Amino acid sequence: MNNVWVTRLRFAPSPTGYLHVGGARTALFNWLYARRHGGVFVLRIEDTDVERSQAEMVTGILDGLRWLGIDWDEGPEVGGPHAPYYQSQRLERYRAAAKQLLDSGQAFEDGGAIRFKVPPGKTTFVDSVHGPIEFDNEHIESFVILRSDTHPTYHLSVVCDDIDMAITHVVRGDDHISNTPKQVLLYNAFGKTPPTFAHVPLIMGADKQRLSKRHGATSVMEYEKLGYLPEAMFNFLALLGWGTGSNDELLTKDELVQRFNLEGISGGNAVFNTEKLDWFNHQYLLKLTDEELVARVGGLGAWGLEGLGKDPAWSSRVLALLRPRCKRLTEYRDQLTPFFEGPTSYDPDGVKKHLSAPEAREHLEALRQAYIATGDWTEVALEKCLRELAEARSAKAATLIHGTRIAMTGRMVSPGLFEMLVLLGRERVVDRLARLIAALAGLP
Ligand code: GLU
Repeated sequence: MNNVWVTRLRFAPSPTGYLHVGGARTALFNWLYARRHGGVFVLRIEDTDVERSQAEMVTGILDGLRWLGIDWDEGPEVGGPHAPYYQSQRLERYRAAAKQLLDSGQAFEDGGAIRFKVPPGKTTFVDSVHGPIEFDNEHIESFVILRSDTHPTYHLSVVCDDIDMAITHVVRGDDHISNTPKQVLLYNAFGKTPPTFAHVPLIMGADKQRLSKRHGATSVMEYEKLGYLPEAMFNFLALLGWGTGSNDELLTKDELVQRFNLEGISGGNAVFNTEKLDWFNHQYLLKLTDEELVARVGGLGAWGLEGLGKDPAWSSRVLALLRPRCKRLTEYRDQLTPFFEGPTSYDPDGVKKHLSAPEAREHLEALRQAYIATGDWTEVALEKCLRELAEARSAKAATLIHGTRIAMTGRMVSPGLFEMLVLLGRERVVDRLARLIAALAGLP
């Protein structure tokens, strides 16, 4: 039995594409509100558009929600008292509803389709974000509710399901405001009270245009591939168009649940700021312990992380070196590589810029000898050794510094060179210098 006092929200995606950040944010607001009020969060798949809906998109949407940590109490895979949760399996219900309106004279047939007969007057509703909204029915055409192929239109199916599933609050994108009067008319026609509506602002790119591929990744799962943590994405999305009313930004899932309310949703458009997302991600990465961090980085793919697990003290020092500079898991993966394997190629620009003089090789060889001989394998000693050698040979210290970096990483940028040398250890440093020296001999 439905208890009218139970707060029930739903996310109702059409599986015509992957889970977009805008959709994810809508799902998240509904989820937060349901959790805040001890309610129920329903997932319903609106797949009545047979041509555009694809089963693999449903899988993609479920994966995206799960990755973000949004669980559903009723819906695909979990079932529930109002099953089925796929609109394509509820067609008979919509046909019966259309017939009901036809029989009661509130709809009429028109060339095989069934249209709703819009009554005269005005249609009003109070939007939790935008306040009272009024539409003059004169401007609402007698819209189709059941097509001639007996498939329902969105307005009919969404209202039937929201009634049947006892939905109390509909939180969805601003682009649905103009659909709402038609839906309110249908609620009235069925003799039901409409739910509370909250239309949330759309998400814009930095140029204030609607977020699209042009702005970068739009599918939630792309963000996983780009090295973002789901908890950072969750926090970031929760603050896209909603605010706590204070300066607090770093909020855990539980804190967001405690604080979420419809009043905090802003009427203005929300801007998707990638730098801000990076900031959140960095903060969440910094919260992870070394062990957790290694586990997350390892989760990115088959890559030799065993080394980090083997020597926790050494790993901690490596990670401490990288923590301030890595904002995404992919950056860790990239920056960790030189600690495990020598370069497979050398940045040609770096070689040209710093190592094209014939003496460069000899300087590097002298440094290699000095590093074989030095007793003190510390940052200070290694730097001192390099600078003294440069001076003695009337070479530029920069040549040796950049040359050594290229020898260690193949690249022109890396974390602090001497810290890195200490962590790599004498054997690897000397060996990689030798490999670069040999490679330079082969260059014209
Ligand atoms: N299937 C609709 C959409 O994806 C749902 C809109 C609604 O929440 O009513 O836009």
